[in-house]
Amino acid sequence: MSVKTEVQLQEEVEQLRTRVAELEVTESQLEEARSRQQEAEQRLRTLLDYAPEAIVMLDAETGRFIDVNPSAEKLFGMPRKALVEMGPFELSPQSQPDGVPSGSAAAKRVGEALSGKTPVFEWWHINASGEQFPCEVRLVKMPWGDRNVIRGSITEISDQKQLELCEQGRSQVLERIARGESLDEVLHVLVKTIESLFPGMLCSVLVLDPETGCLRTGAGPSLPAFYNAAVNGLKIGPGVGSCGTAAFTGERVIVADLMTHPYWASFVSIVEKAKLRACWSEPILSLNGKVLGTFAMYFRAPRQPARAELEIIGIAAQLASVAIEHDVNKQMLQGLNESLERRVTTRTKDLATANTELERSNDELQQFAYVASHDLQEPLRMVTSFGTLLREELSDQLSQDANEWLGFVIEGGSRMQALVNDLLDYSRIDGQARPFQSVDLNSVLDEVMVSLRPSIDDTRSVITVDQLPNVVGDRPQIVQLLQNLISNGIKFHEKQPPQIRISGEQTDDGWLISVTDQGIGMAEEYSECIFDFFKRLHGRDRFPGTGIGLPICKRIVERHGGRIWAESSLNHGSTFSFILPIRDLH
Ligand code: ADP
Repeated sequence: MSVKTEVQLQEEVEQLRTRVAELEVTESQLEEARSRQQEAEQRLRTLLDYAPEAIVMLDAETGRFIDVNPSAEKLFGMPRKALVEMGPFELSPQSQPDGVPSGSAAAKRVGEALSGKTPVFEWWHINASGEQFPCEVRLVKMPWGDRNVIRGSITEISDQKQLELCEQGRSQVLERIARGESLDEVLHVLVKTIESLFPGMLCSVLVLDPETGCLRTGAGPSLPAFYNAAVNGLKIGPGVGSCGTAAFTGERVIVADLMTHPYWASFVSIVEKAKLRACWSEPILSLNGKVLGTFAMYFRAPRQPARAELEIIGIAAQLASVAIEHDVNKQMLQGLNESLERRVTTRTKDLATANTELERSNDELQQFAYVASHDLQEPLRMVTSFGTLLREELSDQLSQDANEWLGFVIEGGSRMQALVNDLLDYSRIDGQARPFQSVDLNSVLDEVMVSLRPSIDDTRSVITVDQLPNVVGDRPQIVQLLQNLISNGIKFHEKQPPQIRISGEQTDDGWLISVTDQGIGMAEEYSECIFDFFKRLHGRDRFPGTGIGLPICKRIVERHGGRIWAESSLNHGSTFSFILPIRDLH
């Protein structure tokens, strides 16, 4: 046994002292490192707890969460204790909307994160009540000792989606409606917009024909053509798929698995071929609650509807309703317009026919009046002239009665002659009309005064004529017009000599010419009917006449595009006025 020397022992003690000192340093370092880690963990915890987005820490080996924050508890509707027992698959539907099973899709993303990438992707989750909702998920690998830990931050995006829909979809659809695009174009845009909000979702709009009770494909751009063709013309009814039933009942229809639901029993082979598994259909209702069609969302995997999908299917159906109702109104308006146009065309044709017929019969009548008046003149002249001759030759041989009778014959003949002459004048207004020319009314008045001179002198009439304008018209007819009016003024007076004034002034409607007298006047109620044929207000014994003078005046003025009227009161004179439009001579 070797005995250690004191020196040796001292050396060993020294070495031990150094080791103890070294150990003390390491321990304090360890202590310091421990407290630093605690601090970091605390900071991490705070960050997790107060993060607005849901955060989950996933152990990639076990596939379980090791931690979640309060936002995650809120998002999934479960306490932390329950969540840390779970993994991402319990919080996802069986498959994503594009039909890919959630398991394999998630494994791919986790793999990406483990390899150092930071994948950001859209993911459908499911909460404690079984509701599905779209989220944006970001994965990142965390340093966690030798464990493979992945941090996932999850943000729900349904609100954002709705906003997008409201802003883009609504304004796009409304804009297209306003631009007058066809219904199918508008529905196509609507379907495309909704589809873009939910990847993997396929939408369709079916329009109901209220007459036949059949659905027509309005838009289904992402569904296979053979599927759209098969649905086109489908008669609605209870249990006829999701859309046929929704259109029939006016209620939303949710079918989570098309392969097992009784509504789809007769369509199994076609949906299988089209690779469709779930469908929700919303009836499109008009403002007054009538079914106009359906808006459907299809999925490639069996699933329950998500809250956001149900909210958006409602909005989509409302937009489709605006588009369809607008189209129905447009078509109705078009139909009404067309029928109105047809009626107007028919009426115009009828009117034209009636007009031609009227013109023809008018011409015939004028012709007849002219011929009759003309042919009557001769025999009348014979009656009056031979009657006069007879009276001259035989008056002293005839009895007083016979003489009186002969007088009646002659007078009747003369009256008839006056009537025939006036009728002839009337029939000449249109029949022998001359082209319009510039007519100086002052010279017309001169001519009228010459022809009326005898009666003016007889009655000691005072006639005042203002400075008159030039008008455009048929001169002889204007002579006749003024002559008739002035001669009436001379005729219809009591004992006082007639006083007549002729004036003219320019108005907005044309030249206003007035003939005013201070004669017997007439009650106001006659001021219109005196322009009718043979209308006379006095017996022939008081004032001779035929009752055709004023109808002739009216016809002449109307032929010149003007109007004539009388203003009068009994015993206070009359004013006969007419307006002739101002026109250019071409
Ligand atoms: P006539 O003068 O041959 O009787 P008109 O057609 O010229 O026929 O006139 C129709 C009727 O209008 C006259 O019978 C008369 O009663 C009334 N009338 C026309 N002009 C005047 C007038 N200036 N003053 C009063 N009454 C008139």
